[in-house]
Amino acid sequence: MQISALTKFSLIDFPGQVACIVFTPGCNFRCEFCHNSEFVLPEKLSEVYKNLIPITSFFEFLEKRKWLLTGVSICWGEPTMQKWLLEFCRKIKEMWFLVKLDTNWRDPEILKELLDKGLVDYVATDIKNKIWSLSDLAWVNVDEKIYLQSIRVLLDSEVDYEFRTTVIKWVHDEHVIENIAKYITTAKAYYLQNYKWWNTLNPDFKGQSFTEWELEKFKQIATQYIKNVWIRE
Ligand code: SF4
Repeated sequence: MQISALTKFSLIDFPGQVACIVFTPGCNFRCEFCHNSEFVLPEKLSEVYKNLIPITSFFEFLEKRKWLLTGVSICWGEPTMQKWLLEFCRKIKEMWFLVKLDTNWRDPEILKELLDKGLVDYVATDIKNKIWSLSDLAWVNVDEKIYLQSIRVLLDSEVDYEFRTTVIKWVHDEHVIENIAKYITTAKAYYLQNYKWWNTLNPDFKGQSFTEWELEKFKQIATQYIKNVWIRE
């Protein structure tokens, strides 16, 4: 298990919890709007690998923060690429912390195993584009069947979770939002997250934020299909 960075305290990342955030290096996608290229692109990752946080230091930190923290959030790059993810989650759970996982759906089997074994308490994941069009944004060839299997694993699970779409002007429109919403009608929660342009993986990426009014319109569309839809600025 590799830890590339640690945010020691967050009240907003893990809903309802006081959490620290563990960042993991490497991602199978190359989303051109990604803000975290230093944890994604191999040429930048070589620097990150020189400064990984030792696992023992992380657990020492966690032990000392038992009085304050209630959860650990594990996020980007793509945590399911980490070989010891299950053991890492198990150890955190044994210390009585809750675990949140952010994943891009890379591996439905790992996700299912984590859920079946009760090793995660909350899953957050992007549905980045309309169904069957993920490769357009991920900038790699995505086996869409695997991606959709992961969505199904979560829809069928008892765990708390959120789907979210980072909505980007010139990329998403009302048809895309409707297409996604129709696919996840039984979702517990769907967030429309406004895009902010900065430090993009593709420096030439020109996507922009939507206005409040435009976001409300998207919300109205998604609400026709999903009960709980929120806007996240
Ligand atoms: S899945 Fe997330 S971390 Fe990976 S490239 Fe896309 S935005 Fe970046």
